[in-house]
Amino acid sequence: MQIRENVPISELTTMRIGGLARYVCEISSKDDIIKAWNFAKERKLPIWFMGGGANTIGKDAGFDGVILLNKITGIEILTETDDGLQLKAMGGEEWDDVVEFTCKKGFSGIEAMSKIPGTAGAAPVQNIGAYGQDIARALVSVEVFDTKTEEFRSIPRSKLRMDYRYTTFNHGEDAGRYFIVSITLHLNKNYLEPPFYNSLQNYILEHGETDYSPMNIRRMVSEIRAEKLPDPTEIASSGSFFKNIYLDQVGADEAEEKGIPVWRSNDDSGKINSGWLIEQAGLKGEELHGMRVSDKAALVLINEKTKNYADLAAARSEIIDTVRRKFGYTLEQEPVEIPEK
Ligand SMILES: Cc1cc2nc3c(=O)[nH]c(=O)nc-3n(C[C@H](O)[C@H](O)[C@H](O)COP(=O)(O)OP(=O)(O)OC[C@H]3O[C@@H](n4cnc5c(N)ncnc54)[C@H](O)[C@@H]3O)c2cc1C
Repeated sequence: MQIRENVPISELTTMRIGGLARYVCEISSKDDIIKAWNFAKERKLPIWFMGGGANTIGKDAGFDGVILLNKITGIEILTETDDGLQLKAMGGEEWDDVVEFTCKKGFSGIEAMSKIPGTAGAAPVQNIGAYGQDIARALVSVEVFDTKTEEFRSIPRSKLRMDYRYTTFNHGEDAGRYFIVSITLHLNKNYLEPPFYNSLQNYILEHGETDYSPMNIRRMVSEIRAEKLPDPTEIASSGSFFKNIYLDQVGADEAEEKGIPVWRSNDDSGKINSGWLIEQAGLKGEELHGMRVSDKAALVLINEKTKNYADLAAARSEIIDTVRRKFGYTLEQEPVEIPEK
């Protein structure tokens, strides 16, 4: 196991902000997890789990603890039949490599989540989703190291309370308790069908696409994303900085009465696109404290030239306050923040 000392969190995260982490342990095996856990325990230091840092923000004071950086890679087919594929992806595997693997084999279930940056191990943490799919639908179970019992075990999806950007891993008393070693997914041959998620549907209509195979959906989604979303290797951001707003039927009715577009579910509850609110509040493309509200997708906050968390926090407050004043909704941040200790 490689242990590095005083590592800038800015170098571990796609937002490229954050002071020094006291220790970073690169985890390449299950043994390394135990070693890193004992290393932190001996020094009485807190731990923090990380993959690609695409949904993580560091603070200026850094982190006086041990970051366990997941580098355990590998994809293993568990079962494969004509219409079903069950596979295990190790947590440090690039998520998009897992998606590509399943699409190439012709299986459906995660193809619309192509090109989401980060690791397979982090994917269940906030229940990643895009273009109408989320990982909850394909996830069978996760293999974890439980820091409470100091044991490895498997947890079925049914025990993870998965919802929009919400799971056992990021909410409630067990948040931060489990290090995800691997994930098991089930894919099938039930290809996606129209009507698709809004922007994908528009693309399909514009381009006259009729091939809904996983590989072709992957190609289309990749193209749409490349147009709208910053490439984290070139532009610093955490993708969507705010969550969309989910409303019950009454809330959805009220929003519509105010003239806000609402995407209704079958049960008449609804979703407001927070990017729409930010755009209508006049902030799309604006620079705030060295951060820029993307001119292509207003939900995305780009770190154009700041090195400080304080600037990010000031930009965030300005956006939240402006949207609250105009529409009465309080935006909630999506990326997680590493505590200072
Ligand atoms: C340009 C861009 C576009 C994006 N688009 C999307 C999108 O379409 N949909 C979407 O849902 N997200 C999107 N994101 C957010 C991000 O890609 C996902 O949240 C992704 O799952 C983060 O993976 P990561 O490995 O970088 O996680 P990290 O940022 O390293 O970690 C995120 C969280 O998971 C925890 N964690 C990480 N690894 C483990 C582990 N092994 N065990 C336990 N906990 C762990 C961390 O402690 C932290 O709480 C986007 C981000 C960017 C930069």
